[in-house]
Amino acid sequence: MSHVFHRDPSVALPVVVAGDGPYLIDRDGRRYLDASGGAAVSCLGHSDREVIAAIKAQLDVLPYAHTSFFTNEPAEALAEALVSHAPEGFSRVFFVSGGSEAVEAALKLARQYFVEIGQPARHRIVARRQSYHGGTIGGLSAGGNVARRELYGPILLDVSHVSPCYAYRGKEPGESDDAYGARLAAELDAELLRLGPETVMAFVAETVVGATLGAVPAVAGYFRRVREVCDRHGVLLILDEVMSGMGRTGTMYACEQEGIVPDLLCVSKGIGAGYQPLGATLVHERIYDAIVSGSGAFRHAHTFMGHATACAAGLAVQRAIAERGLLPQVRSLGDALLSALRERFAEYPFVGDVRGRGLFVGVELVADRESRQPFEPGRAVHKRVKRAAMARGMLCYPNGGTADGVRGDHVLLAPAFIVDERQLTIIVDTLAEAIDEAT
Ligand code: PLP
Repeated sequence: MSHVFHRDPSVALPVVVAGDGPYLIDRDGRRYLDASGGAAVSCLGHSDREVIAAIKAQLDVLPYAHTSFFTNEPAEALAEALVSHAPEGFSRVFFVSGGSEAVEAALKLARQYFVEIGQPARHRIVARRQSYHGGTIGGLSAGGNVARRELYGPILLDVSHVSPCYAYRGKEPGESDDAYGARLAAELDAELLRLGPETVMAFVAETVVGATLGAVPAVAGYFRRVREVCDRHGVLLILDEVMSGMGRTGTMYACEQEGIVPDLLCVSKGIGAGYQPLGATLVHERIYDAIVSGSGAFRHAHTFMGHATACAAGLAVQRAIAERGLLPQVRSLGDALLSALRERFAEYPFVGDVRGRGLFVGVELVADRESRQPFEPGRAVHKRVKRAAMARGMLCYPNGGTADGVRGDHVLLAPAFIVDERQLTIIVDTLAEAIDEAT
């Protein structure tokens, strides 16, 4: 009997014992091509010798020291590397152990910032439906995934949710991308006015929506308009790139491709690539200065923040991405994957949409392609696809987002940046077979 409290104790999970590039191997010797990097985590595959050597070397000299007494070399070097790619004005990195902690830190930084600058009335958060910002109370409150929130309603923070930028379902027939983006920005504006903008501290959004919608990038210009609305009302923009950051979309930070600078930027998953648990909140100089020249210190911390071994892993990941030229590879392999999926599913009755950016790709499954009618929720098609793919030796990340009465089944693909074209072909073929079986 297992004493581990598994996510779903009714499912008998295989025991994984080894990693080999983009493959995982279970105790019976079965190999699984990891087409989703777990949940968009394993950007270098599962057996990167350089990252493993960097971790071992760090363990030999200093595994961990508490950050109330010391800083450490890997944390300093990793912060420098992250800032060197970050949007203009970002100068500080608050290290944490995962994505939820990165979002919590961002929310608390936003609140403390407004207290420091003499606007203590600002405490409200606005976020988007069909989003995910973590499982902790703050992150879950900001998130708009109805299924994940529903049990906890009474203990969540009071967060307003506006529409996500989800062109496949949100755009009106005949509406241009520009008009759609403008309509959504107007909705945000109206919500801020309704709440009283002087009471709102932050708008939170995933730059490319991950788990809940399956790799949905915004239409061109949407984030520029959002930035304008936030600026007009003095509201901070928190971008959650826990899934979409760290090179996953082909640039180190996904917001680079939107041409905007947020105020706080959350990353995790690919930062440690699964070799160590790690996350970070990147902080704009303006916010850092207000805190340091105000009360002097951020009133929030975690025991394992700035963990030396985790930061050594993160630094090795950054070096691998730079030295091996992986970002251009993500862009070209991502284009190849999108084209192959679109070609393969062009006439496919149960695939409504294929979208994404870089090696961050979503496939939306529908009961009827013409009407975009989703499958009946009870069929849980996304879970069936996951099981069918796993039975064929491939891992993909399923989701059935529920919000506003619309349920869509999606499969997220986020393979390691080191996959080759042959493995991309296996991913497309196996997904097609799994969808065939599941539908
Ligand atoms: N934010 C986003 C966009 C995520 O996708 C996730 C996890 O999937 C989180 C936050 C929470 O991260 P973690 O599970 O590491 O706490």
